[in-house]
Amino acid sequence: MAAQILDGKSIAAKIQEEISEEVVDFIENNSFAPCLAAVLVGEDPGSEVYVRNKQRACERVGITSQLHRLEADASEDDVLSLVSKLNKSSEVHGILVQLPLPAEITSTRVHDAIHPFKDVDAFHPENVGRIAQDRARFLPCTPHGIQQLLDRYEIPIAGKHVVIVGRSDIVGKPLAALLVARESTRGPQAANATVTICHSRTENLAKITQSADILVAAIGQPQFITADMVRPGATVVDVGINRTADGLVGDVDFEAVSEVADFLTPVPGGVGPLTVTMLLHNTLQAAAYVI
Ligand code: NDP
Repeated sequence: MAAQILDGKSIAAKIQEEISEEVVDFIENNSFAPCLAAVLVGEDPGSEVYVRNKQRACERVGITSQLHRLEADASEDDVLSLVSKLNKSSEVHGILVQLPLPAEITSTRVHDAIHPFKDVDAFHPENVGRIAQDRARFLPCTPHGIQQLLDRYEIPIAGKHVVIVGRSDIVGKPLAALLVARESTRGPQAANATVTICHSRTENLAKITQSADILVAAIGQPQFITADMVRPGATVVDVGINRTADGLVGDVDFEAVSEVADFLTPVPGGVGPLTVTMLLHNTLQAAAYVI
């Protein structure tokens, strides 16, 4: 039987409707709109698309956005001085520096420089620490989006075995923190999972992924997760975005896995739209911190 597709696009549209109502209330009560400033260094085509999507999404929900471009040969000091300016600007509530940055720029130094109250990507170590201690200021966008998607489809998370393939600071590790926590923005049923994180040094990977009720692939390798790695009836979340000659492809072999899994996210139209949406959620929250 073919898996039910988890339609990230329509869930994202629903959440954006909710956010836009909250933005209307916010503007009525405070006489200013939340504002997101994006920093784009160089002309990476993928980054251009991501930033444009984020700006359009801001527009849809009534959030103001700014785009600050720096040339590809900008130095780390150039980026840091722009971040410092944005930190001080009373017009800007959220700051995002689009990744990847040119190789000469250390992204951790840039993220460390963003004011923790404007760090809507939740990459600053203070915010990461707060997430680890279950007292998040901002929730990490992709993990929070995945949690929203699963819960809005009423897929049980509490008590289930979640296997995450990938241990990045952006997806794997913060997702594990959210799903293992006792509470979530959606209630305890969307947390309290038993979580296993796998990576490139994991032994017997397929044996572990086969034991997952919910399998999350955040690897960055096209169609890495094959049908034999998935337990029949599992939920499979494909975070991967790989640009290939055939277009955008996820980390999961979509056709084959859809014959085994009960629920599956597509690429595109799965996790991606939710990541952008949770960034809007965080920007609204950041604007509320200045009141
Ligand atoms: P990273 O490259 O930072 O991390 C990839 C992870 O996959 C690493 O932990 C790595 O292990 C692991 N890995 C690589 N090869 C294997 C293997 N053979 N077996 C097991 N594990 C392996 O990637 P990100 O987390 O930043 O992104 C992952 C994917 O998700 C990318 O395609 C990215 O474009 C996409 N993405 C999508 C988003 C969305 O909104 N949909 C948001 C963010 C990312 P090790 O640590 O040992 O090297």
